Amino acid sequence: MPETDTKWMLEAVACATNARLHSRPNPWVGAVVVKDSAIVGRGFTSPAGGAHAEVHALSESSRRARGATLYSTLEPCSHHGRTPPCTEAIIAAGVSRVVIGVVDPDPNVSGSGIAQLRAAGIEVVSGIAEDTVRYQLRAYLHQRTNSRPYVIAKMAVTQDGFTTLPNAATTATRSPDEWITGEESRQRVHMLRAESDAICVGANTVRTDDPALTVRLVEGRDPLRIVLGEVSPDAQVHPCVQWTLGIEPLLDHLGGLGMMQLLVEGGAATVSAFRRDQLIDELILHVAPKTAGVGRPVFEGVAWEVVKDWLLDSRVAVTSMGSDTEYVIPREVFG
Ligand SMILES: [Zn+2]
Repeated sequence: MPETDTKWMLEAVACATNARLHSRPNPWVGAVVVKDSAIVGRGFTSPAGGAHAEVHALSESSRRARGATLYSTLEPCSHHGRTPPCTEAIIAAGVSRVVIGVVDPDPNVSGSGIAQLRAAGIEVVSGIAEDTVRYQLRAYLHQRTNSRPYVIAKMAVTQDGFTTLPNAATTATRSPDEWITGEESRQRVHMLRAESDAICVGANTVRTDDPALTVRLVEGRDPLRIVLGEVSPDAQVHPCVQWTLGIEPLLDHLGGLGMMQLLVEGGAATVSAFRRDQLIDELILHVAPKTAGVGRPVFEGVAWEVVKDWLLDSRVAVTSMGSDTEYVIPREVFG
């Protein structure tokens, strides 16, 4: 029943969105239990130490889980972590079929969840709505595959391709017409911060802009703040990590801590340094209907005409944000 399976898997994907800001350091997984063509239980991952999505969906289903189908965006875990393995709960609930979006690349799972379920006589199907699930879980999958966080570089840019406005004040004293982007884009940036485990800027950005880099315009946790270099003890970015050992060692360090997503918020020199070493996985541009005339480009050595070509690529997700436009550009486009 591939079409019906896809439909229910997309319900599980929708459940997972509830976990995105809270499940860290666990992946944001969603699950539904379906019996007689109706959902009888839904779940998403709790904050660390709480139950996983599958267990929540099963407990909501209660006895109706017997003979039902469980849909989970990620392969159920089969090992004892902070909680008992989900495979045990699934087997105990008497579920007869399990449908999985994507196999977990974590070496602790990686097919063993599926094997345990099959050994218990449960039918298992995987790879349903896989592209959608992979996109939703891309930061987690990247971290478990590469042992480094998924790197998102975000830049605000004028319609003529500059990342600064002439004579703009620092962040703390800036008036609305001195920001490149509007309120909605800035709110979106705070959401990106809340979704990220860590955020990083160059020391120069701290000296010129003195940003706090906290989550204020949305509800969410502050990411770990990292400055590349050393900054004044009076800077608003404190408490922060002042990192002086280079970008790749930073990614290895954060990956070793299990951090799934790093947001790079500039400035242009820092973002260019990440790009030079091909360390950006996703570039987010917020383009505002303003003209600067002069300033720093998005990437050093890349003409705005080239960037504008990227924006037209069919793999780029385009969203309007007030009077600005957001472009989410995957690595394959700007490589
Ligand atoms: Zn689990």
